[in-house]
Amino acid sequence: MNIILLGAPGAGKGTQAEGLAKRRGLVQLSTGEMLRAAVKAGTEIGKKAEAIMKSGGLVSDDLVISIISDRIDEPDCAKGFILDGFPRTLKQAAALRKMLAEKGKSLDAVIELRVDDAVLIGRIEKRAADAMAAGLPVRADDNAETLKLRLLAYYRETAPLVGYYFAHDQLRTVDGMAPIEDVARQIDDILDGKA
Ligand code: AMP
Repeated sequence: MNIILLGAPGAGKGTQAEGLAKRRGLVQLSTGEMLRAAVKAGTEIGKKAEAIMKSGGLVSDDLVISIISDRIDEPDCAKGFILDGFPRTLKQAAALRKMLAEKGKSLDAVIELRVDDAVLIGRIEKRAADAMAAGLPVRADDNAETLKLRLLAYYRETAPLVGYYFAHDQLRTVDGMAPIEDVARQIDDILDGKA
């Protein structure tokens, strides 16, 4: 089963992707996590991405498309994967469609987690506060100022994907403001054909 989770920063994509991966034995593919690992490791990709990520912008389409294409080819993805944070632009969505067709794969569901903007901002601030309280590193882009820019990038570049997948009859939407377990149940019902 191959799934896309769509949603703004703070919508809960990472949390839901993690739970879903465990429940269904799928691989979670988070481009944000992959890029953060590249930045930490100081690779060429990391050097290209670091400043852009810190500023709340999007790294180049070609870069993330090639990262995802290579990752999907790895054997563990044969059991199915959840895309978390990709695609984020119409160009990425078109490239994904083409690459999946070339690899003989397809999408089983595109699920949008819908959350109000005011709630998103509160969640990101809480994520940063929780990490700090636990003595964990706070994401360089989890602060109020950068969040506004990330939201702008979302509305400019990523929100059109909701229309794109709706037009392809692939979009399903869940209430991302419900408690975590309820959101998980809504997603499971969609995947099990019960909703
Ligand atoms: P995330 O962890 O999904 O919030 O991503 C963190 C940051 O990584 C984003 O703000 C972007 O700078 C970058 N990023 C992650 N995924 C993508 C993508 N698909 N396209 C472009 N930039 C991305």
